[in-house]
Amino acid sequence: MTIADCLFCRIVAGEIPATVVAETERTLAFRDIAPKAPTHVLVIPKEHYADVASLATADPGLAGEVLGTVADVATAEGVVGEGFRVIFNTGASVGQTVFHAHAHVLGGVDMDGDLT
Ligand code: C5P
Repeated sequence: MTIADCLFCRIVAGEIPATVVAETERTLAFRDIAPKAPTHVLVIPKEHYADVASLATADPGLAGEVLGTVADVATAEGVVGEGFRVIFNTGASVGQTVFHAHAHVLGGVDMDGDLT
């Protein structure tokens, strides 16, 4: 896949619509198009990395910025007190379908014991 074909790069470029909830110079947060919980936001680096492991190896500072945006989103969504889940699916075998690093921020529902 070239970066031009990458769905999330195209969202960053404004070529595909998304409901953006937070943005920094190097990160973007938008609502998942098929939410699995009342709060389901994706946080991505604007720069293309295939997954979180590639991102953290190449640019740990940017990986930290993604986590900072995750925290800001959780605060804005009001899920910090009740708890929320952050998931980086890494690899097709565990369910990664979009190969541009992204954190799922999930909250607003009881997920006790649920690993998904
Ligand atoms: O971790 P995984 O790669 O499976 O997650 C990709 C996520 O991207 C899915 O939850 C899917 O609903 C979401 N998506 C989106 N907007 C799109 C295409 C996919 O929010 N246009």
